[in-house]
Amino acid sequence: MNPSIPLTIPRPDHPISRSQLSSNALRVLYRLHDNGFIAYLVGGCVRDLLLGREPKDFDVVTNATPAQIKRLFRNCRLVGRRFRLAHLHFADEILEVATFRSAEPAEPEPDEPLPADGAVAPAAGRGYRSMPQHLKDEEGMVLRDNVFGTPAEDAQRRDFTINALCYNIADFAIIDHVGGMTDLQRGVIRAIGEPAVRFTEDPVRMIRAVRFAAMLGFTIEETNWQTLRQLSDTVTRAAPARLYEEVLKLFLLGAAEKTYQLLRQSGLFAALFPRFNAWLATETDGFPHTRVSQGLDWVDRQLQEGTRVTPQLLIALMFGEYLEELTKRFRSTGSPPQQALDMAIAEFLGELASTVQIPHKVGIMVRDILAHQHRFRKTPGRQPLSFVARAGFADAFAYLRFASEISGENRELICWWEKYIQETPPAPAAAKCVPSSTKPSRRRRRRKKKSSPPGAVL
Ligand code: ATP
Ligand code: MG
Repeated sequence: MNPSIPLTIPRPDHPISRSQLSSNALRVLYRLHDNGFIAYLVGGCVRDLLLGREPKDFDVVTNATPAQIKRLFRNCRLVGRRFRLAHLHFADEILEVATFRSAEPAEPEPDEPLPADGAVAPAAGRGYRSMPQHLKDEEGMVLRDNVFGTPAEDAQRRDFTINALCYNIADFAIIDHVGGMTDLQRGVIRAIGEPAVRFTEDPVRMIRAVRFAAMLGFTIEETNWQTLRQLSDTVTRAAPARLYEEVLKLFLLGAAEKTYQLLRQSGLFAALFPRFNAWLATETDGFPHTRVSQGLDWVDRQLQEGTRVTPQLLIALMFGEYLEELTKRFRSTGSPPQQALDMAIAEFLGELASTVQIPHKVGIMVRDILAHQHRFRKTPGRQPLSFVARAGFADAFAYLRFASEISGENRELICWWEKYIQETPPAPAAAKCVPSSTKPSRRRRRRKKKSSPPGAVL
């Protein structure tokens, strides 16, 4: 499809109604429009509304520059180093408003006239010549990407066709530059442009492809899938801290077990967790390692029931069996239990540091979940009240319930603790929420605010 001639789907031919948008999003779109700017909803929210799903958040794209957006909205904060974005802060949500961007290294002279089709000028003071606006490393990964562009160029630089659809507040039509509507109807995940180029520019797109396929029940288009499998090893070129965030999103969206299967088939799982993946292929005492699948299935059920799963519980559920084995190994060389567990956690965090960087404080909370398991065996044991009041108790207890569910053991222990929690009055404030692994922190006195922050100011 020719991106310069987009497909327009008029309001009567699509199901998105203004009543489905958040009132803040609607007001922002109208304010931009009333001030003569183009204003579209874009990305995941349009995709989800077309699929009859509730959007997680609303993203707006416009030809107003960040400075112009800031002038229009009092509740605006400009963020982002690679590309300036506007965040509009409301009492109950933050809306992201971005200026149309280009992926092409078109670098006009600073005083060149504006393109006619909605593109915007370079930010004041940021000459095109002074610094390259697009920068790729020698392998083709994008390091910098911050040129304003046209609506068509903006659609082209997005990841998948289904994520590039826009809803135009001017006439309530859907604008499709890249064939996203057809792919949405067919249930297909397809990168915009050449998949090898797009996955190389940003390897995280491969993880996103799996996420959307699992979340929406879509299939990854065949060439995209083959390319993804070929390039899966390169995913670790993305920053380890970013990969940690992406892994959390992958497994906490309610389709963790399906995501896991796709990740393994694609080779992404082996690239992200090489040693753990090799261990999965081995057996312990003649038994295969199946607990990760059971753990993820359990996570999905919790999320379906509306129960929150914390990152540390997710990690304990995924890697608990592996960590227990590592701990046993250190025990067999003579380390005492607590030290052996600490060494296992340190080794685990160390081996993942160059791929998926689990923050140290999350590692400590995972350790606490595992360390607390012995404590449950003592009923009531010493100071049960302060044990229940600990910050990590809920996660540790959830882990016990999971372990009991898959092994059929410890049911009476769970009943005992449930009864104890029910019958015990809430702990006094002083005993509450002392993180098990950290020293009580010095209290910082909060400075009194001069005036209360405005709520939803426009
Ligand atoms: P979700 O519902 O999970 O938030 P989303 O599609 O909204 O899904 P976001 O991460 O919120 O995903 O990103 C918003 C939009 O920004 C995407 O729909 C896509 O158009 C674009 N985008 C996000 N990440 C990338 C990327 N790595 N490469 C290109 N475009 C991207
Ligand atoms: Mg989103």
